[in-house]
Amino acid sequence: MPYVKYYTAGNKLAKFSKKDIERGSKTNERLAYDITFYDWTIRPNYEKKSVEGKMDIHFKGGLEHNVILVDLQRRLKIDSLLSTSEIEKYKRKGDALYIYFKENIQVGENYVLSIKYHGKPANVDNQGPIVWSEDRAGNPFYSTLTQGIGPHYLFPCKDMLYDEPDSCTIRVGIMEDLRVVANGNLIETYKEDQWNYYLWKVKNPINVYNISFNVGKYARLDYTYESLLTGEQTISAWALEEDLDKAQPFYQQAILVMIEYEKMFGEFPWEEDGCAFVESAINGGAMEHQSAISMGKILSNNWSNDTLQFKMNSTLVHELAHEWWGNSVTAEDYCDAWLHEGLATYCEALIAERLNGKPAYRLAINFERQGVDNKRPVRKTCGARYNSWANYKDHDIYNKGALFLHTIRQQLNDDELFFNALRRIYQENKKGHITTETFKEAFVEETGQDLDPYFEVYLTQNTPPVLQYNFNTETKEFYYRWKNELPEGFQMKVLLGEGDFLELYPTYEYQKVILRTTSDQVVAQEFFGYILIEKDKKFKG
Ligand SMILES: [Zn+2]
Repeated sequence: MPYVKYYTAGNKLAKFSKKDIERGSKTNERLAYDITFYDWTIRPNYEKKSVEGKMDIHFKGGLEHNVILVDLQRRLKIDSLLSTSEIEKYKRKGDALYIYFKENIQVGENYVLSIKYHGKPANVDNQGPIVWSEDRAGNPFYSTLTQGIGPHYLFPCKDMLYDEPDSCTIRVGIMEDLRVVANGNLIETYKEDQWNYYLWKVKNPINVYNISFNVGKYARLDYTYESLLTGEQTISAWALEEDLDKAQPFYQQAILVMIEYEKMFGEFPWEEDGCAFVESAINGGAMEHQSAISMGKILSNNWSNDTLQFKMNSTLVHELAHEWWGNSVTAEDYCDAWLHEGLATYCEALIAERLNGKPAYRLAINFERQGVDNKRPVRKTCGARYNSWANYKDHDIYNKGALFLHTIRQQLNDDELFFNALRRIYQENKKGHITTETFKEAFVEETGQDLDPYFEVYLTQNTPPVLQYNFNTETKEFYYRWKNELPEGFQMKVLLGEGDFLELYPTYEYQKVILRTTSDQVVAQEFFGYILIEKDKKFKG
């Protein structure tokens, strides 16, 4: 998701509370149950901006224990709570719902927990969990968005990345004569009382924040293409009827991008569920909802392909990348959200390169360099329900994550090795979970290079390497060194020049080269990696 901003903690980063750790770590109350299937029914009320729903959580016992912790935002009221194992009581503590069973859950046994609920979901800065809107003709138009704030704002669930259901169903009842588009495939529609029901089914594991739906006056476009790996396939696009003309050429672009991703990483992961894009009511962004990617109001806002000669809409490129990185290969814990966002952001540069050549790649990299804060580590503390997406001051998981991958690639200076490593990580972990460690181990094994110090500098330190220099334009002496402390073994090649590069290996001590130019804008970052550059004003030669 590119830069959807939540201001849940004002301008400050939320600190971990005891509750964050309780809800974000693998306690016995979490390990006791392993989600197998979410069966969700929801009836949104557009007039009242409220919902009533039922969630059947199917799970397998993971640990002999009598208490489980389910996430449910406090504003949503529970009407009934039933289970196939007798419930003694339940307690609500903030957004945590503790359910006490009369007997211990048995390892490997199957259970169903059925929770009926209703309420008026909080409106978090008009960014979710439901964004209520209307189309230009005045028809209701609304969509869900829960990444960051949490899916528990909309339904009871276990909001932990490591525990995906094997499949899910989404049954949405609406009062309007409109269409519902959700993840996966539409199984049936029917009418019951005054409600029009749409039942959608996802046949694959899905991240809980990807479970979503959209309501509007939709029409569908289908694009067929020839996958190099799986033969003839279809990409669908759901657009508001009023935006259909604009949608046609826009989604046509997806075919080219799809083919490039398949070449780089392997087949599109959700053949059974299909690949679809959906115009959605969310404000100022898009979201990688699995097999039903929310594209926000990109069409009604008169989309254009990005400048910088990318010749491709980077939002579409980014969100589609998440089907491989984020949705199929998922971080085990929210602390590693950079694995989703860094990869998807780097894919924007890779697609620019593959479709438009190296100059477009370098432009993309230079563009990404401008949006880095370097105030907090890219990798967060694991085991706390830290919201990596939640604060606009903390978006280095996107651009700095991408620049880190760029740096590794440039330093390796062997594209075959680099792309083999990425492909291997994808293939070994598809429809599964990874951590920064497993990512690193595979990279090191595949490339045979000691990349540890790079992972440490770029992911755990606030500041990347800082090149301090002084340039005497008369003598053309260029002095350079690392200013900041870097881990042992960190050795980075720095390139100076504009074509005929000078290769430097800075240390903490000043070293000197004689340049031919009088310009001191000679550090060619886009050719070797991401660093900061600083003139040493106190330098005495
Ligand atoms: Zn993203």
